[in-house]
Amino acid sequence: MFNVIRRPVAPASLATRRSYSEPDVVKALKEDFFDKCYICETKDPMSLNVEHFDAHQGSEEKKYEWRNLFYACARCNNFKRHHYNDLLDCTSEDTDVLRLIRHAPPITPWSPNVVIEAKSDDPKTVSTTNLIFRIFNESDTGNKVVTSTYLRKRVYKRYAKFLEYINIFIDDDSIREEKDVALAHLKNLMDKGQEYSAFLRWAVLDSPELLELLGDSIN
Ligand SMILES: [Zn+2]
Repeated sequence: MFNVIRRPVAPASLATRRSYSEPDVVKALKEDFFDKCYICETKDPMSLNVEHFDAHQGSEEKKYEWRNLFYACARCNNFKRHHYNDLLDCTSEDTDVLRLIRHAPPITPWSPNVVIEAKSDDPKTVSTTNLIFRIFNESDTGNKVVTSTYLRKRVYKRYAKFLEYINIFIDDDSIREEKDVALAHLKNLMDKGQEYSAFLRWAVLDSPELLELLGDSIN
């Protein structure tokens, strides 16, 4: 998960209370959430949509409240629905959602599971960890296009890219310029706007050597 700084002023169309997914709302969420699902961090314009963090269950107030609107993919939304109504709020500046849930990347494209681990026993952290664990590990029923197997493979590809740059950086055969470029890419991959940033950043948080090299780039 990644922290989001939500724009303070609600998109204008919400005031009319006719729809919570007018283009101005979608555009604002897309920008504030770095164009990715706040739960699984997939960047997929085809499936990203407006979600109610606190399920509205008919409440007009909750339905059109800007602070209650989040950007999520269809698959995560389907897992969450009203079953998980006590998640960590990634838009709260008091909640370090990255460090509260450890994400360990898959080590091969076919890893049968990934580790998603709560670093605190407070109920919201435990509940959010449980949801994210299911999203990345639960075997799917039916023939949906996006499955946990597909997701793990996508995370692996990002992680493999990260490792490629590490290899260039530590290789005695690399010249200075190559190392500099590799380091710039590694720093860029630490940005919270990157797809699957929690997996990449935890690879760094888990390693004192990498933390020293890249810790300052974790924003
Ligand atoms: Zn998602």
